[in-house]
Amino acid sequence: MSLPNTIAVDGPAGSGKSTVAFAVSQRIDYLFVDTGAFYRAITLLAIERQLNFDDPQQIAQLAQKTRLDMTPDSGDDQRQYTLLADGEDITLKIHSPLVDSKVSVVAANPAVRDALMDVQRMVAQRGKAILAGRDIGTVVLPDADLKVYIDASLDIRAERRYQQRIDNGETANLDAIREAMRARDEYDSSRKAAPLQQASDAVYLDTTTLTLEESIEALYQIIKQHHSIQTEG
Ligand code: C5P
Repeated sequence: MSLPNTIAVDGPAGSGKSTVAFAVSQRIDYLFVDTGAFYRAITLLAIERQLNFDDPQQIAQLAQKTRLDMTPDSGDDQRQYTLLADGEDITLKIHSPLVDSKVSVVAANPAVRDALMDVQRMVAQRGKAILAGRDIGTVVLPDADLKVYIDASLDIRAERRYQQRIDNGETANLDAIREAMRARDEYDSSRKAAPLQQASDAVYLDTTTLTLEESIEALYQIIKQHHSIQTEG
């Protein structure tokens, strides 16, 4: 069965796009690329180096000189990928609430977005790939063979993130998570550079009332249907 070669999956924070896209990538033996991880990497390094987030040039220079890469090896800790910054494995450090709170400002910087474009396209070219992000269908891969926009209500997205943190043994506050998520979505959707928006040719998938398993099945069916439409037409 020949499936779409490049699949763009965009959507807001906590929509489940990474978890769902990763699960489907395993099922169809595709490379999974979580592009948010690249923005998170630059944010983490900027925090560690105590750079000034109010100085866009400092952050842009960091993005321009850092060598990022993502490899599919899953290691022993159930990770979806390994993220390398100048050869150092930073995968397990990029999902902290502190990175969450700073990443949107970094991602709104047009020079940072430019600097991260090459690594996203390079990784996508390695083979049959599913890229998850905010602007994959609109900017990074405007010619992707299939585009899907995964959505869910704010309440359910916040609950999922809350549950994820609790399951990881972390402390979490549902109201704080909901508010942080709302603020991040608003920032991501209203920024000038490549805002979060559904591509006009994307398939819309609302997972508000779906379980994780149902969401995975729904994305899988969209990919399969796309394949049969292409081969019939
Ligand atoms: O998907 P994730 O929550 O890891 O993304 C973190 C942040 O990176 C988003 O809130 C957004 O600001 C930014 N991002 C982006 N474009 C992408 C992927 C992520 O601007 N393609």
